[in-house]
Amino acid sequence: MAEAVQAKNLRTMVRLRGVRKDYGTVAALQDTDLDVPTGEFLTLLGPSGSGKTTLLNMIAGMASPSQGEIIINGRDVTRLPAEKRGIGMVFQNYALMPHMTVFENIAFPLQIRKVPKAEIRRRVTDVLELVRLPHVADRKPKELSGGQQQRISIARCIVYKPDLILMDEPLGALDKKLREQMQLEIKRIHSELGITMLYVTHDQEEALNMSDRIMLMNAGRVEQLGTPHALYFEPRTQFAADFIGASTLLDAEIVDAGATPLLRLADGTNCRLRLDSNVSAGTAGKLLLRPEALRLVQDGNVPAGHNVLHGHVANTLVTGATSKHFVTVEGGAVIAVQELTNQNTARFDPSQRVCIVWPADVGRFLES
Ligand code: ADP
Ligand code: MG
Repeated sequence: MAEAVQAKNLRTMVRLRGVRKDYGTVAALQDTDLDVPTGEFLTLLGPSGSGKTTLLNMIAGMASPSQGEIIINGRDVTRLPAEKRGIGMVFQNYALMPHMTVFENIAFPLQIRKVPKAEIRRRVTDVLELVRLPHVADRKPKELSGGQQQRISIARCIVYKPDLILMDEPLGALDKKLREQMQLEIKRIHSELGITMLYVTHDQEEALNMSDRIMLMNAGRVEQLGTPHALYFEPRTQFAADFIGASTLLDAEIVDAGATPLLRLADGTNCRLRLDSNVSAGTAGKLLLRPEALRLVQDGNVPAGHNVLHGHVANTLVTGATSKHFVTVEGGAVIAVQELTNQNTARFDPSQRVCIVWPADVGRFLES
C-alpha cells in the first residue's frame, strides 16, 4: 500500500496545493493547485503581469509562497532553499559568466557538486554535443551569437541532470527565425532526456508549438489548463479564445437550446451551432469564429447546412502563404476570413456582396 502511494507520487514531478503569493495587498498569484506528471512539457502562458514568473520563482525556491505547499518529486520543498531543490533554471538573459570560457561555464555546476575532473570533461563534452555546439568549448560567451549563448545556458542547466528544468521566457531576446529553431531544439532535448519542463512564455504560438499542456494565466489565476488542442478548439472563456489564436467574437444569444441549437446574433441573423454544455435559452454571450474556419462564397453558392453572414470585403491582406479578408457584415462588425493565398485571392472588390459561410460544428458559444 505504502509502495503504491509512493509510486503514484513519483509519477508527479511537481505538485502545488493552494499556493498563493501576496505582495502587500496585491495577489500576484491566487490560490493555485497543479499537478505536473513526470516527463511533461508544461507551459505557463499569459500576458505580462499575469503571475507566470511569480509561480516559477516559487517552484525554484527564489520566492516563498504566502500560503500553500510545493511538493517536488514526492518531497515537500516549501521551506527548502533553492540550491537544495535540484532544479535547473534557464533565463532570458543567459546569465553566463563572461570571464569564463564556455567549458568553464558548463563545468561550474559540476565543480560545485565535487564531480571528479575526468567525469566533468566527459559530461561537458556530451552536453555540448547535445546542444550541437561541440566546437565552442574554449570561447568566451561574448564570442557567441545570442542563440548560441542560449544553447550554452541550456547545456549548463542540463549537465547536472536535474529532474526538473524551469525556463522563464528563454527565447525572448532572439529574433523570430532563431526563436523557432530554438523551440524545436528545446523540444528535441526534452524528448531525448525525458526531463520534466516548466516553460514560461507570453507567446501563444510558442506555447502551442512546444507544450504537452498549457496553463493559461490571467491576472494571477489559472484561466484554463489543457492540451494545445483543447485550448485552441475548446476555449472555455472569452479571454482564452482571445488570447490563443485569432478570433472574432460576436454578441449572441441562445434562442433555442434544443437538439439543433439556435443562436441569434446582434444584427438579428440566426445561426446553428453545436453546444457542448448545458446552456438554456436566453443565455447571452459571444459566438467565437476562427478566421481559418470561415469561407467566402458568392451569393447563391452557399453550401447546404452552412451558416451565412452577408457583407462586403473591405480589405484583403496577402501575408504570404495565407491571406486575410476583412469583411464588414450587415450590422457593422468586421470579421476576418483567412484562406490559403492563390491566384484568385484578390477576387473581391468592395462593391460586391459576399457571403461568409461556416458549418454548424465550427462555431463556439462562450457565455458572458
Ligand atoms: P509575469 O511573469 O506573468 O509577467 P509576474 O509574476 O512577474 O508576472 O508578476 C505578477 C504580478 O505581481 C504583477 O502585478 C507584478 O507587478 C507583481 N509583482 C511581481 N513581483 C513583485 C515584487 N517583488 N513586488 C511587488 N509586486 C510584484
Ligand atoms: Mg515574467
